[in-house]
Amino acid sequence: MKKPSVTFWGAAREVTGSMHMVESNGFRLLLDCGLYMGKSRYAQNRNRLFPFPPESVDAVVVSHAHIDHCGNLPNLVRQGFQGPIYCTPATKDLMAVMLADSARIQKEEADTGDDAGVDESSTGLLYTGVEVAETLRRCETIPYDQSREITPGLMVRLVDAGHLLGSAMIHLTLDTPAGTKRVTFTGDMGRSDLKFLKPPSNLPGADVIVCESTYGGRTHAPVEEIAEKLRRVVRRTAERQGKVLIPAFSLGRAQIVVNFIRQWMHEGLLPRLPLYVDSPLASSIADIYDLHPNLLDPSAINGASHDVPMQYVRRREDSRALSKSRGPSVLVASGGMCEAGRILNHLENNIDDPRNSVVLVSYQAPGSLGQKLMERGPTVRFRGRKWNKWADVFDVSGFSGHADRDELLRQLRPHAEHQPRIALVHGDIEQSTLLSESLMDEGFRTVDVPARETTIHLA
Ligand SMILES: [Zn+2]
Repeated sequence: MKKPSVTFWGAAREVTGSMHMVESNGFRLLLDCGLYMGKSRYAQNRNRLFPFPPESVDAVVVSHAHIDHCGNLPNLVRQGFQGPIYCTPATKDLMAVMLADSARIQKEEADTGDDAGVDESSTGLLYTGVEVAETLRRCETIPYDQSREITPGLMVRLVDAGHLLGSAMIHLTLDTPAGTKRVTFTGDMGRSDLKFLKPPSNLPGADVIVCESTYGGRTHAPVEEIAEKLRRVVRRTAERQGKVLIPAFSLGRAQIVVNFIRQWMHEGLLPRLPLYVDSPLASSIADIYDLHPNLLDPSAINGASHDVPMQYVRRREDSRALSKSRGPSVLVASGGMCEAGRILNHLENNIDDPRNSVVLVSYQAPGSLGQKLMERGPTVRFRGRKWNKWADVFDVSGFSGHADRDELLRQLRPHAEHQPRIALVHGDIEQSTLLSESLMDEGFRTVDVPARETTIHLA
């Protein structure tokens, strides 16, 4: 019998394509099955080809519904995986809209000749709505903090990670020939200071802790500092009768930013301007947040009961009309880096009006339109022509849903005396290495930053 082990297949020394395999007593349990984001040939191959036979996997546990953690599940199903998929109820609800959206994007890109996500199989796509539906049928939900024996000698417990609605740390208890072994996989770890979701629960102690390290070497600015910066921009823009355009990713960042703005309007810290969220996906996601009010921080007032009205824009023609409207308003639109999504129409119709502001709340990759907007210069090029960049552009990043170095250390510190083996994943090598140095300073003796394909034995 092979020794029980964890093998790192994705998000190892990188931040995308989360996927790790736990093997114990001949049972193969996959933790996450994320899509490797990007349009390169390498990314396509990483998604298309699994490094193990999909039919050899007995079960999957999914940490949360971000596409880099669950987005390749329908492809695993398509290629022969037969087992159950365990996740929290909210993760299942969110995966229904996220995976359907992922299939839709692939189809659209294939139709327009942009071949991201395409393979050479008969349909030309990684998966379609058919495999998404089958994936959802396989999902078995486990509420937070309940233990479930998924096979004799293997217990799973999901613990609130506070990163996204339904996000979980995955805690495994395995009976092995060398006794009971415990593994904790953090998934993506949230933060306790955003006051939107409930804060992360305490990290369950284990013999092996697989911990994310996205911000392993950085600390976030205080939330109140970022909040005041955003409020100042909105106030000033409203005074000159302008529009505030906020491009945001549909799942996670959009809900956090919208919650803050509504709270401030409710508290009188901002004038009550018309507030729009222009994204059919964000609109579907909002309905799911309304189904799970118990997962939110008590200070976050969610849903239609809020006294600050907001409007979700689903129809394309309504979005176009809104992009041409005038008068003060706040508009959150899909397209975090302004590369695609409805934000483009809004930029086209508003970027040359000096009364307006564009507020970038997400990371802007080099070469993205978001990055170009932040550069100095009177014009910006997109959609095949130059536009006058007379609107003000502000970088108000800092609403990340990830724990920073201090919060990760706070979670891990209590476990130092038991000397678990720590494997840092989901971080670029610089961030992971900085966190590993901090952990050594805290007294941890075994901290690895495993490369892809590395296996750690549990006994
Ligand atoms: Zn995430």
